[in-house]
Amino acid sequence: MSSVLFDRIALIGIGLIGSSLARIIRQENLAREIVISTRSPETLARAEELQLGDRYCTDAGEAVTDADLVIVSVPVGASEAVARIIAQHLKPGAILTDVGSTKASVVSQMAPHVPEGVHFIPGHPIAGTEHSGPDAGFASLFQNRWCILTPVEGTDQGAIDRLSAFWTACGSNVDVMDPEHHDLVLAIVSHLPHIIAYNIVGTADDLETVTKSEVIKYSASGFRDFTRLAASDPVMWRDVCLHNKDAILEMLSRFSEDLAALQRAIRWGDGQALFDLFTRTRSIRRSIIEAGQETEAPDFGRQKV
Ligand code: NAP
Repeated sequence: MSSVLFDRIALIGIGLIGSSLARIIRQENLAREIVISTRSPETLARAEELQLGDRYCTDAGEAVTDADLVIVSVPVGASEAVARIIAQHLKPGAILTDVGSTKASVVSQMAPHVPEGVHFIPGHPIAGTEHSGPDAGFASLFQNRWCILTPVEGTDQGAIDRLSAFWTACGSNVDVMDPEHHDLVLAIVSHLPHIIAYNIVGTADDLETVTKSEVIKYSASGFRDFTRLAASDPVMWRDVCLHNKDAILEMLSRFSEDLAALQRAIRWGDGQALFDLFTRTRSIRRSIIEAGQETEAPDFGRQKV
């Protein structure tokens, strides 16, 4: 078990990510007190039933009072509203972070509200599942995954080190980069795959010549793997698309060009081009397995909830 890193940690938002944090903080004894806040009384009551924290309140301002570490885990489009509510309650010297999947937008939404003396260090754990809510979380979610921190220039190095130590204690490896670079990288490794999955599943759903029952019956041939991504939370992914628009559009236009080339190779029977591409992509898959970022397990190693 790790040692206590913070006296009081406030978790604002207690869905998949917030509740996974609550569980690992408790398991590793990383805080003396965990305070939980979420906007709906129903979700808060569920968090209490699951005993995820020590105190519970719907008022986020009250929750962050005297907290040494505040972690905001809400859809990125709600970042500014949350920052407005908590800003004047943050204690000097506290670390304020988030887990949002886009970073430049979160910085522009939250930074203007952060009072002097509070260390604002945006973050993004590269770990997740397609499930949502406090029941979906589990303590090992961050194990051997990366967490990217995107501190703005001039951020206190001691605060960055403390937050890095926290994520390390949660089982993660930590990288630091600027928000814009984060957004570009995530556009290709996360946002585009989800958009493609939403699109292909939508296309299959719209088909008239192939029945829905055939799509489901024969899904093990490839379609099934897309449906997991396409089952991800609609609010979260709506916000990701709206808040990483430029990087996503850039990657989508690259993708469309490459798809057109693939289409041409198929049309003209260019088997060599197809073979070369499929060989190149296969080696990427091998590199991911070698880096320990995937398991051989058919359920991708994720816990069933
Ligand atoms: P989630 O399971 O859907 O939980 C969302 C939490 O945010 C709930 O506590 C919810 O409160 C609250 N919330 C929703 N809308 C809100 C609003 N408009 N204002 C204030 N609070 C609101 O979501 P999650 O998967 O944990 O995602 C949280 C954040 O983590 C997102 O920014 C997402 O981009 C990021 N992230 C997600 C993943 C993933 O795979 N899911 C991975 C990495 C990062 P109520 O239930 O009380 O309404």
